Amino acid sequence: MTQADTTPAPDTRNRVGFISLGCPKALVDSERILTQLRVEGYEVASSYENADTVIVNTCGFITPAVEESLAAIGEALDATGKVIVTGCLGERPEKIRERHPKVAAITGSEAVDDVMAHVRELLPLTQNPFTGLLPIAAAGMRPGVSPIPAPEREHTRHGDVFAPSVKLTPRHYAYLKIAEGCNHTCAFCIIPKLRGKQVSRDAGAVLYEAFRLAAGGTKELIVISQDTSAYGVDIRYRESEFQGEQVRAHLTDLASYLGEMGVWVRMHYVYPYPHVEKVVELMGQGKILPYLDVPLQHASPRLLKLMRRPGAGKQLDTIRRWRELCPEITIRSTFIVGFPGETEVEFQELLTFLEEARLDRVGAFAYSDVDEADAAALPGHVPEEVKAERLERFMAVAQRISAEKLAEKVGRTLDIIIDELNDDADDKPGTRLIGRTKGDAPGIDGQVYLYAGDFVGQVRVGDIVQARIEDSDEYDLFGEVLARPEWKPNVPQLGHFKH
Ligand code: SF4
Repeated sequence: MTQADTTPAPDTRNRVGFISLGCPKALVDSERILTQLRVEGYEVASSYENADTVIVNTCGFITPAVEESLAAIGEALDATGKVIVTGCLGERPEKIRERHPKVAAITGSEAVDDVMAHVRELLPLTQNPFTGLLPIAAAGMRPGVSPIPAPEREHTRHGDVFAPSVKLTPRHYAYLKIAEGCNHTCAFCIIPKLRGKQVSRDAGAVLYEAFRLAAGGTKELIVISQDTSAYGVDIRYRESEFQGEQVRAHLTDLASYLGEMGVWVRMHYVYPYPHVEKVVELMGQGKILPYLDVPLQHASPRLLKLMRRPGAGKQLDTIRRWRELCPEITIRSTFIVGFPGETEVEFQELLTFLEEARLDRVGAFAYSDVDEADAAALPGHVPEEVKAERLERFMAVAQRISAEKLAEKVGRTLDIIIDELNDDADDKPGTRLIGRTKGDAPGIDGQVYLYAGDFVGQVRVGDIVQARIEDSDEYDLFGEVLARPEWKPNVPQLGHFKH
């Protein structure tokens, strides 16, 4: 007679599916939750069939995003019957329950601890002494680089979290979230109602995260928040420790330290406050990428006031000044056309501004009401057909300017970071590549289509190559690889960082 096997059956009810919707800020929240799931021993399921429960990280920014989130929740519920909703739309639980009364739990944004409590309740794990010990700090470390201390647990609006070590972006770029929430009250936006007032991270925590990423092979850090220029205001620019030095939580100081790490540093959601000049100076010195994403939204002073936009003022003068300080700068912006009360004259004012500012990258959308946003109650809503017609006229001007500016790059040799291989079926592997210049952010700006030339089969995703630009169209560039220089980040040894 054989003795019965007393080993407990493997716990299979530990597979969590994850749907991440919304902007890069939400993506970082997803990374934090996924990191914690892994630390606690949960498996991340790759399909509904393999998932015991699904977490949906939602977006609630504008009506189409709300609809997309509600549809995703419905799909996950149909497939698994157990859904935890988190993220921006989670701040409006009544909206979710109205459509999907059977969701298991709802939390707001940045609520890693609450989400995990619900996961543990739905899928209690048999205690495994090994899974709680996964080394967060060591994730992504390269051999030969000194170990870097684990980040302190950081205070956020909803509790304490670690900086994420699970990344949803490719290894060569990463989003670096420096603050959450917003202190402004733009009339068309409900983000402050959803995500609360601004809570900045300490500079030391941000820098240690950047340092670990650079050590692990990340070549491009994309700084994000709701209002990057206002970083540190809420914590009175308090100092914190980084590599034995005290660093202020202030954008110029942060940019300066990040610029020392020898990786591409890209700034998003920067409002034109006076101190941004100092950041542009760093761009002119080649410390950080000559790239600014500045959401201007309009050019008419009356409309900007109605929108209650921060930093609105002499936009054209500011842009001219930035270009003096950094002639290479790429400026990206977004605009709303057809805001309530916008007259044809004010729209013309916007077109004239666009012609004069000659912005490099421009996105625009026709205004649409968002529940609970103050703009919905403003008089003078612009008819849909007028909004559509203005959007078309606006984009035609923006497209022409973009084509003219890209044509100026033909004949130049530029650094290109490679995002993907683009081979046809009969190509030798590694013949065609897709990448971005320093002036292109992933997912929103243009791309560079390259032939590998003498470097067929030698260029990998994540490499930074030099390429000659041979052609251009409205949004993209085309060229050939000339060189594949060695990548040398300035990731210092622990204790030897000199600023
Ligand atoms: S700055 Fe304005 S648009 Fe941006 S998150 Fe804050 S309130 Fe919304």
